[in-house]
Amino acid sequence: MNTAFLQTPIDYLKGVGPNRADLLRKELNIHTYQDLLNLFPNRYIDRTRYYKINQIQQSNAEIQVVGKITGFKEVAQKRGKRLVATFQDDTGTMELVWFRGQKWIRESLKLNTLYVIFGKTNWFNGKFSMPHPDIETTDEHKKSLSSGIQPIYPSTEKLSNKGISNRVVSKIVQQLFLETKGNFSETLSPFLLSELKLISKSEALLNIHFPKNQELLSKAQFRLKFEELFYIQLQLILKNLIHKSKIKGHTFDTVGNYFNTFFNEHLPFNLTNAQKRVLKEIRYDLGSHAQMNRLLQGDVGSGKTIVAFMSMLMALDNGFQTCLMAPTEILSVQHYNGLYEWCKKLNISIEILTGSTKASIRKEIYKSLESGNLQILIGTHALLEDKVKFKNLGLAIIDEQHRFGVAQRSKLWHKSSQSPPHILVMTATPIPRTLAMSVYGDLDISIIDELPPGRKLIKTVHRYDKNRLNVFRFIKDEIKKGRQIYIVYPLIKESETMDYKDLLDGYESISRDFPMPEYQISIVHGKMKPADKDYEMQRFIKGETQIMVATTVIEVGVNVPNASVMIIESAERFGLSQLHQLRGRVGRGAEQSYCILMTGHKLTNDSKTRLETMVKTNDGFEIAEADLKLRGPGDIMGTQQSGVLNLRIADIVKDKDVLQQARYYTKKVLKADSTLSKTENQSILNTYKALSKYKNIWNYIS
Ligand code: ADP
Ligand code: MG
Repeated sequence: MNTAFLQTPIDYLKGVGPNRADLLRKELNIHTYQDLLNLFPNRYIDRTRYYKINQIQQSNAEIQVVGKITGFKEVAQKRGKRLVATFQDDTGTMELVWFRGQKWIRESLKLNTLYVIFGKTNWFNGKFSMPHPDIETTDEHKKSLSSGIQPIYPSTEKLSNKGISNRVVSKIVQQLFLETKGNFSETLSPFLLSELKLISKSEALLNIHFPKNQELLSKAQFRLKFEELFYIQLQLILKNLIHKSKIKGHTFDTVGNYFNTFFNEHLPFNLTNAQKRVLKEIRYDLGSHAQMNRLLQGDVGSGKTIVAFMSMLMALDNGFQTCLMAPTEILSVQHYNGLYEWCKKLNISIEILTGSTKASIRKEIYKSLESGNLQILIGTHALLEDKVKFKNLGLAIIDEQHRFGVAQRSKLWHKSSQSPPHILVMTATPIPRTLAMSVYGDLDISIIDELPPGRKLIKTVHRYDKNRLNVFRFIKDEIKKGRQIYIVYPLIKESETMDYKDLLDGYESISRDFPMPEYQISIVHGKMKPADKDYEMQRFIKGETQIMVATTVIEVGVNVPNASVMIIESAERFGLSQLHQLRGRVGRGAEQSYCILMTGHKLTNDSKTRLETMVKTNDGFEIAEADLKLRGPGDIMGTQQSGVLNLRIADIVKDKDVLQQARYYTKKVLKADSTLSKTENQSILNTYKALSKYKNIWNYIS
């Protein structure tokens, strides 16, 4: 059956008509034959089993029983009445109940005739009852079942109210198979079919809608999931390939003085193997002719900064400028201070630009950037302003990229007067590998999956508010040992005033329990002026205060190695990735560190799972996987644009094995035939082209 025929509007299918067509369009987004064909059942029910009435148990989900109606009665209730039928088999009686459509039911159902009923049962008034059962005569039942496995299609309340029941949808689909003779063009190549032992497209579609048996149903599901994920991967990977071939990057072919001197004489510690590997990946990219777009993922404290710095040296060695953008002032200052020390040794010029940079200094920076005298610029969003113009920006690095939008990333592109700079984005919010594959298929990904040696795992515990006194005693002991403490309060936009009050109340009570002059406390929150914030922050960094009370402004990147305890108040209100980020503020020095999650007594199941996950593991990737399971992919950045949310049959969380295979085979197919021009890939090319949304991308290639 050719694809054009499948574009026929759904109105033309026998049994549909204008009213139903309208409903199908509005409720299920079904416009064409093709859309109907791709309406895959949500689940299947097993109708091979028949229950006797005395076998029914309260836990039974949907069951099917054969028996007769022996009588009807009407029962008055608060509003209107319900119709109740007594239903009987040779083992007992139960009730069937209707709240609507009673007249029609009474007229169409006969007493003492064998029926097969199907539905969910309730235990009510000492009897089992089944509200609004599916009912068929035994004859109908025999005819309607091609097998015992029955598909349940997605539906909406409106559809069922308007009489488009599951059975009706199934009939319409049946009609479609009649008109098309169940014969559909193959969409995958012979190589893939044989390599993966996939069933054909026609067989898969038939069995997804009318499964002959469990085995064929599983095969159909696998084949269709694979196909769906394969085409997503194909789009992503082709986009990446096209990008690489179209956009020229600066080629950094020299490994020069700066890099070598730093590496040989000033390296402050041995790099971990993961750091070395990632540096190699970056170096390879920078030396090729394509423009780099790389995502560097590494847990908090994994040592992304030095990787960033050494990548910057590669740019400098080739006569280019480079910049590093961070989401907050605090973090920018910290980066600047850290890198400044290294730059001094290498005689490299470096400046910092933020919202609070004085106008006179700003001017100097602009000038030296344009003249090319300034080699490295660190800063906040201020780097994106139009006045910031580089002479030759070769590499732009973005730290904690989840704080920035795609628009901001693309702004950096245009900061160079020549071709766009290489771009390296870094994140400590690990995206589960499976999701990264499908969302960031167009970025290259590097992962630092190893912490520097000697790090002790952070001990994490969950404590209720009523244990507060013990917690405070523990803090005092730690302070006696010379350690510093963070206490963090949630800040959620919708209730900012309330949170602010929580923070101040907390601060007050902590001041009472930790009185001056023995204890010094810093407080930092979003409503403070940057200068005040910085002052308080600096006091903590210098060790003048032992306790830092803060909202989540400290979440990102702050590095105070002497801080050993992180207390998170109302921890149930934070998401998993945020909790993990916060915890990463401690455990940066040689001392054993602790994270204490404080909560009230009432917790939702999700909150409990989050807290348990935190207590159980320190591994950012494991936490990211748990987060994905809890929240689904919808909340994870980048998923919106990627199409993984509109999957018809595959599930990005449950089907990660299929996704891995899809990715592997997409690469394999493209490696052998990058333009899909071989005859054997004809069906793939055709299918790809038919995904019309992406036609314009295709134009680049062909
Ligand atoms: P993040 O990945 O969170 O940005 P940083 O780059 O800030 O991590 O590094 C965290 C700490 O670990 C810093 O104090 C840094 O100097 C140190 N560090 C980084 N790499 C190593 C290493 N290979 N060996 C020892 N310490 C390291
Ligand atoms: Mg960092």
